[in-house]
Amino acid sequence: MPNYPKSEAILSANTQYIPGGVVSTNRAVDPPIVFDRALGAYMWDVEGNRFIDFHAAFGPYVLGHSDEYVNNAVRRVLDEQRSLYGSGTTTLEGQLAQMICDAVPAVESVQILNTGSEATYQALRLARASTGRSHIIKPQGGYHGWHNDVACNLMTPLGVLGERRVADEYPFLPISAGIPEEHSSLVHPVNFNDLESVEAMCRKYPIAGLICEPILQNVGIIRPQPGYLEGLRALADKYGFILIFDEVKTGFRHALGGFSTLSGVRPDLVVYGKAIANGYPIAVIGGRKDLMDLFVSPDPRRRVLLAGTYNGHPVPTVAAIATIERLAENNGAVYQHMEELGCEMQRGLEEIFKKAGTEAVVARQGSAFCAYFMDHLPVDWHDLAANHDADLDGLIRRELLGHGVYYFQLPMKQCSLSAAHTRDDVRYTLQAVAESLAAVTCR
Ligand code: PMP
Repeated sequence: MPNYPKSEAILSANTQYIPGGVVSTNRAVDPPIVFDRALGAYMWDVEGNRFIDFHAAFGPYVLGHSDEYVNNAVRRVLDEQRSLYGSGTTTLEGQLAQMICDAVPAVESVQILNTGSEATYQALRLARASTGRSHIIKPQGGYHGWHNDVACNLMTPLGVLGERRVADEYPFLPISAGIPEEHSSLVHPVNFNDLESVEAMCRKYPIAGLICEPILQNVGIIRPQPGYLEGLRALADKYGFILIFDEVKTGFRHALGGFSTLSGVRPDLVVYGKAIANGYPIAVIGGRKDLMDLFVSPDPRRRVLLAGTYNGHPVPTVAAIATIERLAENNGAVYQHMEELGCEMQRGLEEIFKKAGTEAVVARQGSAFCAYFMDHLPVDWHDLAANHDADLDGLIRRELLGHGVYYFQLPMKQCSLSAAHTRDDVRYTLQAVAESLAAVTCR
């Protein structure tokens, strides 16, 4: 196993000034690797090792790292605007907003924020303000950010969850300390792909909104079963709650708009982040105009506060404009390229596991893929927790590092291809997976 002495020294020095040495809890992985630079499909660590990157920094780099087109747009803004004001309106916000509204049928109006967590927070506030209700439904296994409403029921061990329940609610299992009990009593976790439970919650509580990733991509890739998203839409209409699709991870990665564009199911509100600006920090909330207009309601009791020093900052805003331009060019050639690579990767992986006699399935949506070591594609978090061989998953991920292939070092984390990956990268990776699997299974 390779060692990372320079990375270890840097992280250990950091711990003197930064709790844990890292600036996001999710980055505290083993082995700790400190990266130096990244370009296209590759990243280099401080030891000088090159990795083919499939982590994409938790998803944003749909065009690959340091995309020239996007960076040039940013450079122009830096040269022209110099002061980078965030306190006045620029010509860029309206341009970005119009591009999104033009590209996504469900989006009639948008607001521009900085992070996915802010966007999901605001979406839930809009849902509460518009319905006058407080309760929220959240399918388990989805991640929607760090705030009190949603920091729960993700990657919780099955032992804690207990048996799978139908048409019932699960306890709010926080993934953070410091969430008041009064607050968590307003949030009702249910199983993904289970419409009965959603309806049961609607009968029991006045539900303001349901927030979900339309395809779960924070526990690998769990697809909605046929009819699930349509069923959520129908229940939202029947019980009058606001349907929020969290497309922070999936938006603009799978299509202009996101998975909801592909599925044809129209949410009331949708949030984007990550891939919309290829790595620059921005998030967007959009959807029905009557809901979005609550941000400017003339009635102060209904008006939802929207504020943020850096909202619409020219650098990420122009990066988002340039990223969408790149994604839209040549009739979506980037998506076609990633689909082809994704297909080759999926087939290659399936063949490797079959040849080796390893029980595995490969889930994929376009550029995003994930191998599960179980005999069927999971339908919800219970299924995954009960059946996936997370130890084997972890061992292969670790072994791949020695081959210069960077999968995130946590089981079940999905992998992402980008416009910058090539067929050679895919073939090299497949060979590396075959060798890594052989190495860990013969130990
Ligand atoms: N929603 C989803 C689906 C996400 O994947 C994430 C981040 N992984 C968030 C929300 C939160 O976004 P951020 O980290 O930018 O606050």
